Amino acid sequence: MPVFSPTSLLRAIFSTICFFCLVVVSVMMVSIVDAHAAVVASLRPLGFIAAAVADGVMPVEVVLPDGASPHDYALWPTDVMRLKKADVLVWVGPEMEAFLSSSASSLPAERRITLASLPTVTPLLQKGGKALHKNHKYDSNRYHGEYNMHLWLSPAIARCAADAIHDRLVALVPEKKQRLDDNLQIFNTFLTKNDKNIAKMLAPFRTKKYYVFHDAYGYFEAYYGLTPLGYFTINPEIQPGAQALHKIRTQLVEQQATCIFAEPQFRPSVINAVARGTTVHIGTLDPLGRGIVLDKESYTRFLSQLSNQYMSCLEKNT
Ligand SMILES: [Zn+2]
Repeated sequence: MPVFSPTSLLRAIFSTICFFCLVVVSVMMVSIVDAHAAVVASLRPLGFIAAAVADGVMPVEVVLPDGASPHDYALWPTDVMRLKKADVLVWVGPEMEAFLSSSASSLPAERRITLASLPTVTPLLQKGGKALHKNHKYDSNRYHGEYNMHLWLSPAIARCAADAIHDRLVALVPEKKQRLDDNLQIFNTFLTKNDKNIAKMLAPFRTKKYYVFHDAYGYFEAYYGLTPLGYFTINPEIQPGAQALHKIRTQLVEQQATCIFAEPQFRPSVINAVARGTTVHIGTLDPLGRGIVLDKESYTRFLSQLSNQYMSCLEKNT
């Protein structure tokens, strides 16, 4: 009977565990890559639009995990492999998802839809915000570029995105044209109906004053007539300086603001600090639709959820 010393026994156990880990990891990698995702969306809300158009035709996958921010994400090797296999990549563009730049540029042009450069979208682009103070490490031009790149928060741009995805999929699977046409029509119908509900729901809050955490909501707010006093930061990774915070606090008090909105991805202590000792309420806006399941109604559900998030704080008394 062989005799094991405690160290050799440990070594044997350890290498067995390592071996199993390797096997598990390889199986996971293979299954992720093999699960052939025809449409890959950079961000969840773009996945919502793609899932509506591709419903019953092709699966849709999202690169950015729930809870992560597009502002500081780095791709995993499995993401890179998944992107290489993508039949269509849907993304805003290098000014928004910097983490996708090299993967996207290595795909042939017909396998990516860059929303910010679609001819239907460029006339709808909004100018980006300005940094709150001049010594800010990043200014708006160096950060998101000249325009506001949170395009998925514009219902009008969402329609252009759906059209582009539809056309690309028709070219890819012409035999499914009828289904794709129907899906696009259903998406637009949902959006029109939802649009009326949201407009009605938000109308009473058009004169309410509030601050948002980061400059992401311009399209949505312009579309529904909401007017924020301003935002804390252009880049959520960079906290506003003392001078900017002082200015925000003065405005909150002088303008009798109702709310300041944090985000599930970012809930910095500056928000609590600024609100302390004022009558302002703290709400949460989720610009990425965390937890919303991808299906043909998820984009409209996402916009309704965002509207509810505005309303549930703005309806409070100051
Ligand atoms: Zn942003």
